[in-house]
Amino acid sequence: MLVHIKDLVIPDMVGKFAYPAFNTQNLETTMGIIQAADGLNTPVIIEVSEGAVKYAGLTTIYEIMATLADSVKVPVALHMDHGKDMEQLRRGIELGFSSVMIDHSGLSTEENIRDTKAMVEFAHSHGAWVQGEIGKIRGSEDWVNVSDSEALLTDPDEAEQFYRATGVDTLAGSFGTVHGIIKIRGGVTPHVDVARINAIHQRIKVPLVLHGASGVDENVIHAAIEAGIAIINIDTELRLAYGESLRKSLADQPEEVDPRYIMKPVIEAVKKAAERKLLQFGTKNLIKQ
Ligand SMILES: [Zn+2]
Repeated sequence: MLVHIKDLVIPDMVGKFAYPAFNTQNLETTMGIIQAADGLNTPVIIEVSEGAVKYAGLTTIYEIMATLADSVKVPVALHMDHGKDMEQLRRGIELGFSSVMIDHSGLSTEENIRDTKAMVEFAHSHGAWVQGEIGKIRGSEDWVNVSDSEALLTDPDEAEQFYRATGVDTLAGSFGTVHGIIKIRGGVTPHVDVARINAIHQRIKVPLVLHGASGVDENVIHAAIEAGIAIINIDTELRLAYGESLRKSLADQPEEVDPRYIMKPVIEAVKKAAERKLLQFGTKNLIKQ
């Protein structure tokens, strides 16, 4: 069931559990995520990056997400992640995304505030939510590249100032995690600054979003949730499951030419990876039977 993100991310949940926001790019990844949520009877957030929109087309990927969301009983909310193109975010809101992230964190703080505020005005007039970002998250995610030297952890004072100036509904910050696949393949253990999350949460009661959380230890995830993280973005772990299962599927069935049979184990692998996160983050069986 397609729902507004505000129906999932409610003040009561903060500190208790978090929703994974899974990135999708295509039909099969979306099927795996939806099947995982449906099987565990848990709500879920599905999101697209600008790169995924460029790959699949905004309307195409929206319709895939919205149609599959409406094919199950569990609540599913749709979000556009790391948007730099404000016109595209506006089109997404008009299509039906209930939440968009404007990421102008690469600009000056003044420009970031100006653009985020404008996005909030548009989104709120259409009933949608906006996620802002203050601070720079390391690593690469599509066109978002921040080298280690530039990495800036989010300052609690700045976060409060940014929130008060923009009126964002959810806030992403740089809490020490790293975007992308490099950390898992390169053996970098992502650090999560739980004290920083807590300091920001104490000042502003806006739900906080943890990016780059693939591969973060479960205990650390739980500490971050207790400190105020309400949404945890997961992309890399599903990509790994997708890529590895696709290679295996092709190797296991070298004569198979039907995409449905080639992709069947891939959907199953994405589903399993999504299930692990849904169980870790504590959303299982939130829905009353
Ligand atoms: Zn991110």
